[in-house]
Amino acid sequence: MNIINEIVKLTQKNDHKKADVSVTELFKPVQELNIMKKHYKMPDPASDLMMLFGTIGHRILEDGIKQGEKEVYITKNINGKTLSGMVDLITDDEIVDYKFTSVNKASRENEDWIMQLNIYRWMMNSSKPMKIVAVLKNWNKVQATTSPNYPQLPIVEIEIPEISDFEVEDYVLDRLDNMSNNEARCTDSDIWRQADTYNVFRNENKRATKKFDTVEEAMAFIEEKRKSDRKPVSYRIIKKIGNPVRCQFYCAASAWCQQYKDMTEI
Ligand code: SF4
Repeated sequence: MNIINEIVKLTQKNDHKKADVSVTELFKPVQELNIMKKHYKMPDPASDLMMLFGTIGHRILEDGIKQGEKEVYITKNINGKTLSGMVDLITDDEIVDYKFTSVNKASRENEDWIMQLNIYRWMMNSSKPMKIVAVLKNWNKVQATTSPNYPQLPIVEIEIPEISDFEVEDYVLDRLDNMSNNEARCTDSDIWRQADTYNVFRNENKRATKKFDTVEEAMAFIEEKRKSDRKPVSYRIIKKIGNPVRCQFYCAASAWCQQYKDMTEI
């Protein structure tokens, strides 16, 4: 038996119940959702396996934590649509979601996480405090020992601030409204576009001498260099457009997306 093949097959099981829209879909680009209505998600063993590790982690936490209700499927009807969500843990005094994530992501404020938990709270008409329990996949013991600001354990709790019900409902209605747009295009923020850089090249060099955030900084660098150059040197500035990280690595629709194709043909 090829055990790796068997494990990859596990990643392709989908036991989600049917509703019009899930809470997690609210955070995906509308164009991706539209494209995926027409196409079957292509298996991607590398990222599907990473997700499977998250599922394994969820199962261990569900079995190990003895209090509260686990994996609670919730729905709410709004504007004629059924919104559904799966809450990892609801105890007498809090709403909890587990994330299997990086140290970097857990260390910064994540607007999506804040809104996701608040949507769950709003769907349940609850006023319980909310928190994320984040398991840090790339946690490093050496850094934990040498840096006091680094998480001291590979698991952290993140308190989630409450957003008013009015604001949450407004967000959900706005997203549902966007979802009815069949011509939706992705914004730079949807595609997680990295910042453009201005790369300075010397003579015919293929590797950039230095990279800058603005063309002004690149030109100032060249001017400064020219003062100390002993012989004539030609400089070129080439603007490198920031990579669309979601399209490249995380969007299920990238194989069929014309907008992404147009970007790569620039
Ligand atoms: S490939 Fe990029 S542009 Fe196309 S739907 Fe996905 S995120 Fe949007």
